[in-house]
Amino acid sequence: MIFSSARLKLTLSYLAIIMVLSVLFSMALYQVSASQIERGLQRGGVVFDKYANSGIAGPRSMMIDLGREQLDQARRQLVANLLLLNLATLVVGGALSYWLARRTLEPIEEAMEAQSRFTADASHELRTPLTAMKSEIEVALRQSKLSSAEAKMLLASNLEEVAKLEALSNGLLRLSQYQTAIDPAALKLCDVHELVAEAVTRVTKAAKAQSITIEPEVSKGVSLQGDRESLVELLVILLDNAIKYSPPKTVVKITAAVHGSQVVLRVQDQGIGIKASDQPYIFNRFYRADQSRSKHEANGYGLGLSIAQRIVNLHDGTITVESAIGSGTTFILKMPRLHN
Ligand code: ADP
Repeated sequence: MIFSSARLKLTLSYLAIIMVLSVLFSMALYQVSASQIERGLQRGGVVFDKYANSGIAGPRSMMIDLGREQLDQARRQLVANLLLLNLATLVVGGALSYWLARRTLEPIEEAMEAQSRFTADASHELRTPLTAMKSEIEVALRQSKLSSAEAKMLLASNLEEVAKLEALSNGLLRLSQYQTAIDPAALKLCDVHELVAEAVTRVTKAAKAQSITIEPEVSKGVSLQGDRESLVELLVILLDNAIKYSPPKTVVKITAAVHGSQVVLRVQDQGIGIKASDQPYIFNRFYRADQSRSKHEANGYGLGLSIAQRIVNLHDGTITVESAIGSGTTFILKMPRLHN
């Protein structure tokens, strides 16, 4: 509804511009053509005078009347042609304006739709921990006596839900931060060895807790132009997932190699794998390959890979996945060595 009235307004605005230009053009054309016709007839008058002096032509006034009549007729014809031209411009311009208005509004419509889908998804995710907290508090309040042990249990459970809410809001914030292009001032030549080392340090605690070994295999001297902090975050997301979705005592490998103008990074785990039917959707916001498993065991919100995808896009790279259930997952990053 909002868009159909916006489309109509925009169509009329475009049409008004086209018609103003068309009328101005017609007026200019009329002026030029009318003065040319008049000049032509004046030249005819000079010719007539020559003939009149030589005694060949008829009376001069007759010729002048004839000339004026021709001039009026030519002007009328010109006006009729220009009116027809403007009418045609109105019809064709109307259709063109409608098409242009649709094309102009299409990306805005899509962005608005995405925005409202996002709001609905985020509200849904926010509601789950809030509902859990609310019902726990309600149950506790209904009890006539609440022991300190019960109160502590309630607070601990609420704290868990608050932590989930915090993780969700952090994820949403990061997602929105990577919406805009990278500040060119932040683009630096980064040593991939250092990026990987920094990312590995950040996930060491989680890996140790799961007895997972991380094996980085990156030779020194490989560099990549980009925003250092977001590149480290990208690797942390992939390593975090590899740890989260792998059984204890397995190995996560991270390698980097130069292929022409690209740096190819691979994060390979020996984890549970991703079903082929889920693979096309894992980069979508809030998508979890297996709802029950992810929600209860791994506690994710399905935001990590969409943040990773945004970081990769901002660096003009690509991210793909190769995975099979039970035999592990490999995320492959192809990043241009130099940013355009
Ligand atoms: P989450 O926070 O749920 O991990 P992500 O966006 O990071 O969200 O990942 C989306 C889904 O993709 C996850 O829920 C999980 O099912 C699947 N996934 C991601 N990485 C891996 C991996 N290394 N091994 C298996 N499954 C994975």
